[in-house]
Amino acid sequence: MQNDTETKMNHIKTPIKTLITAASVMALLLLQMLISAPAGAQDTIIRDRQRTALVNSPLEPVKSLAPKASMAKDTISTANPYIKVLLYSDYTWKYIKDPSYVQNKDIFIDNWNNEAPSSYQCPLDSLPDETALWIVDSLSGYRCPNQVAVYSKFGYRHRRRHQGVDLPLDTGKPVYSAFDGKVRLAKYYKGYGNLVIIRHENGLETFYAHLSKIYVQDNQWISAGTIIGLGGSTGHSTGPHLHFETRYLGYAFDPEWLIDFESGTLRHRVFVLKKKHFNANSRYVPESEEEEHDIEDGDTKDKEEAARKAEEERKAAEAVQYHTIRQGDTLGALAVKYHTSVRTLCRLNGIKETTILQLGKKLRVK
Ligand SMILES: [Zn+2]
Repeated sequence: MQNDTETKMNHIKTPIKTLITAASVMALLLLQMLISAPAGAQDTIIRDRQRTALVNSPLEPVKSLAPKASMAKDTISTANPYIKVLLYSDYTWKYIKDPSYVQNKDIFIDNWNNEAPSSYQCPLDSLPDETALWIVDSLSGYRCPNQVAVYSKFGYRHRRRHQGVDLPLDTGKPVYSAFDGKVRLAKYYKGYGNLVIIRHENGLETFYAHLSKIYVQDNQWISAGTIIGLGGSTGHSTGPHLHFETRYLGYAFDPEWLIDFESGTLRHRVFVLKKKHFNANSRYVPESEEEEHDIEDGDTKDKEEAARKAEEERKAAEAVQYHTIRQGDTLGALAVKYHTSVRTLCRLNGIKETTILQLGKKLRVK
């Protein structure tokens, strides 16, 4: 990679090369300024750690986002207002989504507030049983927020619902946005401590809690892999870690359905989110085991269906109903009125179609 760039660089005319070098120097200076800006730091060790984290992070290999050695030079419009071409200084390019266009989509306007984690009021019953979510596509990336094995899982913990996963993370270590998105909330919020919530284009929201520092602002558009803050232990926390949640329409589900935190990889490009995932007992299970669960669920459903039918039949048998014959009643009209047939009426009452109905007499109709 490095050698390729070198070779290409030698073919580029000197003024451009100088320009690129100048631009790189500017970027470094800018980075230096950002790092040395006072952040109200409390402690030299933490500040040094932050510095190390910030300086090191752009050099770390990013699995799903190939970092470019060269600089972004220009953006060019395409026929699709949604997509732009990002041109690099080495004359390579790639398609990107135009944030100014994307962030005005309804998903980033409806049910939007910067005040509280809850922003939806959708009854669970109103949600579809299954929702297919595009997690990443060719225009959007992914980066694991903090690659490490989960030490406290989603679900019930000491009889309290744990809405996310806890990932060990030292104070001052970077926390990355998992996907592209818009910051819905960035502030201290009760037990969460310093909290960042990012909403993504597919409607998912990701929560990053207990941060020592927040580096993003409300309504800011960020791309996957952006450092949104630093690990910490603010709020209701017994030690430095990252509490990470994934929510859809306000309902939390186990983030391990999406991400294998230990390897840092995504499990799905398209994920079928099922309503049952919102249940606190619905912890991630590997796919092969999940199929077995589905089969069991199927059995349970069959049994429930059979029980429901039996109950209906029992009720129907109980619901014997009579009609008192009045002036003008005919078997045909009564059959229509009680959603039955003339033949059934005849059978239930032991009469014939030609039998004359007597006023005031009771006729069984069900
Ligand atoms: Zn937690």
